[in-house]
Amino acid sequence: MAKKRKELTVEQLENLTRGHGKKYVSLDEGAALYSIGKNTFRQMAKDAKATYKINRRVLVNIQKFDEFMERFRKNSIKWRFRKMGKVIAITNQKGGVGKTTVAVNLGVGLAREGKKVLLIDADPQGSLTASLGYVEPDDINRTLATVMIEVMNDVDIDPMDGILHHAEGVDVLPANIELSGLEVALVNVMSREVILKTYIEMIRDQYDVVLVDCMPSLGMMTINALAAADEVIIPCSSSYLPVKGLEQLMATIVKVKKHLNRKLRIRGIVMTMTDFRTNYAKDIAEMIRSGYGSKVGIFKTTIPFSVKAAEPSAEGVSVYKHCPGGKVANAFADLTKEVLG
Ligand code: ATP
Ligand code: MG
Repeated sequence: MAKKRKELTVEQLENLTRGHGKKYVSLDEGAALYSIGKNTFRQMAKDAKATYKINRRVLVNIQKFDEFMERFRKNSIKWRFRKMGKVIAITNQKGGVGKTTVAVNLGVGLAREGKKVLLIDADPQGSLTASLGYVEPDDINRTLATVMIEVMNDVDIDPMDGILHHAEGVDVLPANIELSGLEVALVNVMSREVILKTYIEMIRDQYDVVLVDCMPSLGMMTINALAAADEVIIPCSSSYLPVKGLEQLMATIVKVKKHLNRKLRIRGIVMTMTDFRTNYAKDIAEMIRSGYGSKVGIFKTTIPFSVKAAEPSAEGVSVYKHCPGGKVANAFADLTKEVLG
């Protein structure tokens, strides 16, 4: 027969812990002590992992709570109610289908809608980093690789250190060639699939949306992105026969869902570089719709083929800045609204 767990009374607990300088308070007492609302105090204490249920009463360990708040004070981060902090991986193992272009312009689009956005460059090519104007990614000394190595080695880090602030209102965690070395190193690491997730969990309450721009492969970095994500957006250029590649991607997503991240869902395929004057593009769109339409959503918005989509990366700005009101900027604004849906 299972033993009934022994519960301490509040007095016993106080006596036990008094010697260690700990003190427990109720939610009402804590709220009064810090002059904040009870709900806010409860949420903060939860975040601090300082709440204990003792004899059906919620008590808060004040020392633990103080230590947690000190981290915020030290790093000048404001504690906020947990945000939605949705993590979206932008993935397709096929190269050059518009992943980075979608990440940048969806990211800035969301920021223009008032969302706090972090863009994570998860590609050693550093294209996202470079296209936002950080033109020499290899010269940046703190990147995604740095923070992932620190997480791997259990180093106590300031998770916001290394995040860049772009003039168009998005934050960026850059990447460079070091990430390819890390990908190799990950193979021998325990919990290697969830290193990125562990990092993102540290910062996601600072953001409304975290977009991860994946590299063109289904290797360990992409698995890390899928394991960390709530949703996947799959850019698909209409100039390439996507069905075969999509099958492989879907199989990987199913595996990740089964073993690493049950809540992962495919948000949808976004058709990029479309030119609906040609029937070929129409055929491919139709093929995707008939092959995956019921299982996988396809965004209504398509991103038209235009040099206006390709040019801004040379200037380090989004298409909204490069060509405001143009058809590509409008398409990305529509896509943003669909994603916010
Ligand atoms: P990779 O797999 O290498 O990471 P990617 O999938 O991230 O590539 P992008 O880098 O976004 O793809 O785009 C590939 C190329 O196509 C880039 O030169 C980009 O400027 C260009 N491009 C992206 N979108 C469009 C578009 N709508 N019209 C024309 N060119 C585009
Ligand atoms: Mg890219």
